Order: sequence, then C-alpha cells, then structure tokens
Amino acid sequence: MILLDGKKTSNDIKDEITIKVAELKKQGKKTPHLAAIIVGANGASITYVNAKVKACEKVGFDSSLIQLPEDVSEAELLAKIDELNNDDNIDGFIVQLPLPKHIDEHKVTLAVSPAKDVDGFHPENLGRMVLDLPCFLPATPYGIVQLLDRYDIETSGKDCVVIGRSHIVGSPMSILMARNNKVGNCTVTLTHSRTKNLTEYTKKADIIIVALGKAEFLTADMVKEGVVVVDVGITRVKDDSKKSGFRLLGDVKFDEVAPKCSYITPVPGGVGPMTIASLMMNTLQAIDMK
Ligand code: NAD
Repeated sequence: MILLDGKKTSNDIKDEITIKVAELKKQGKKTPHLAAIIVGANGASITYVNAKVKACEKVGFDSSLIQLPEDVSEAELLAKIDELNNDDNIDGFIVQLPLPKHIDEHKVTLAVSPAKDVDGFHPENLGRMVLDLPCFLPATPYGIVQLLDRYDIETSGKDCVVIGRSHIVGSPMSILMARNNKVGNCTVTLTHSRTKNLTEYTKKADIIIVALGKAEFLTADMVKEGVVVVDVGITRVKDDSKKSGFRLLGDVKFDEVAPKCSYITPVPGGVGPMTIASLMMNTLQAIDMK
C-alpha cells in the first residue's frame, strides 16, 4: 500500500509556485493577490480560510481576508463581491462556504466574476470544464487530479466509482475522471444517497473517490484488493485527548481499508492540502488568463 501524501505533494506544488512568483516579481510584474471572504465564526471555516491565507504567504502571494459578521445581509455580501470583482489588485477570490441560512449560496456563486472564480464554482467555469475549454477547475477535484497525476496512477480504462454527487466535489469529479485526459478515461459510476446496493459497485471499482461526509463509511468489505481510494471526507469528532478538543475522520475506515489498497489518501494530510494547492494554481492561472 502506498500513501498518497497530499501534504508533501501540495508542498511540492507550493515550492514550484514560489519560484514562479519570484520570477514574476523579478520581471517587475504584479504579485498575485488572492482574497477570501468569510461570513460568521464557523470554527471549521475559520481553520480552512486561515490555512489558505497561510499558504498564500508561503508562496509569496498577497492575500486579503475579509471577515463579515454572521448577520451580514445578502445585499451587503453581494456588494462586497462586486467590489472585489472590480478591484484590479485582486486576481482571484473565494467566498468560504457554507454561508448562513439567510444568504442564497447560488446567488453568491453567480455573483463572483468567472474570471476571478478561483474556487471554480461558477456555472461558466463548470460549463467550460465539461467542454474541455480553459477554465478554473473546482479546487478539490483539481487537487485530486493533481495527486493522481503526480503519483502516476494509471486511470485509463479503469472503473471509477465516485460516492457523493455534490456540485463542488462529486459531480465535477465524475466528469474529470471520464474526460479524455492523462488523468481520466475512466468508466465512471456516480453514486449517491439513492443508489441501491452501493457495495456491488464499489467492490468492482479500480478507483473509488469517496465524498459523502459520513465518517468511516467505506469499510473493507466494500472494496476489492488493489483498489485506489481517495478520501475527501472531513468530519470533526470530539476527542478530549487533543489540544483542539477534536480529531478529523475521513469517509473511509482507514485502518481496515488501507491494507487492501494499492494507493490511499490519509485524513488529514490527503485531499485537504491539495485543495489549497489548487487554489494557488488557479490564482496563478488567473494572472495568465488576464
Ligand atoms: P454534500 O453534503 O454536499 O454531499 C454529500 C453527497 O453524498 C450527496 O450527493 C449525497 O447524495 C451523497 N450521499 C449521502 N449519503 C450517501 C450514501 N449513503 N451513499 C452514497 N452517497 C451518499 O458533501 P460535499 O460538500 O461534497 O462534502 C463531502 C465531504 O467532503 C464532507 O465531509 C466535506 O467536509 C468534505 N470536503 C472536503 C474537502 C477537502 O478539501 N478535503 C472539500 C470539500 C468537501
């Protein structure tokens, strides 16, 4: 079993980006600038956004963190987005999800200019992805593609099962694994909460990408020997032995599934860091696409 080390791979990518940013600066060009909007004080969201800001500092990007109160109105948030859309100094920005219930996430996603949508959530970018046109790929699926690519995992002709059909992970992932690319050319089955007899699909799969958000859902009896498993899930569970008071669990029962795998991502240290690396790559691409 080989561990797909997202932490190391994302650090490799960040090192490459650091060199590119230094070159841009040497040429007197603009320093890439990523901004993040966070609404409210959701603990997990704050952790993710801080990790993104820290990553920006590491590669030499400028970064801005815009913190809005939990009770900010939808109109105020949309006005802030409009401001960032029109700010030439900002190359890309993200609005950290989830948002409070009184704000319509679809409206927010649509309000972000596709040219600055480095999370790759805007319908224009998703549509361009489907058509194989230049675009910002959604950050988490892009990170998974990068991880499979850098570990040289053969995907062509393989049976791939994606568990979960969310707009930000499962659905775009299924499209990327099916498209005609180095990482791709799989026969993909996209499964979800209404799928019957899920194990019948997972047991036959060469590659399983698990993104449903249920801790330790995928168990050893659901997979075949030699499978490649990518675990996207992150669930916080109370753990008094940790300083933070919690530990992170993936969607895979790692200890029993890992021995059957040819490759598997750990949680933490697998897909999470790759999502951040993808954001950095997309921001650099935003400058190229200008
Ligand atoms: P979501 O809640 O939007 O979607 C979950 C999907 O799982 C749904 O499509 C649903 O149909 C499916 N599902 C639910 N129960 C199922 C079952 N029993 N069998 C098959 N499918 C089932 O989730 P999301 O936003 O895609 O996130 C999934 C997980 O990934 C969460 O734990 C989230 O925290 C994590 N996540 C991690 C990263 C990262 O960077 N590592 C990024 C995004 C999301």
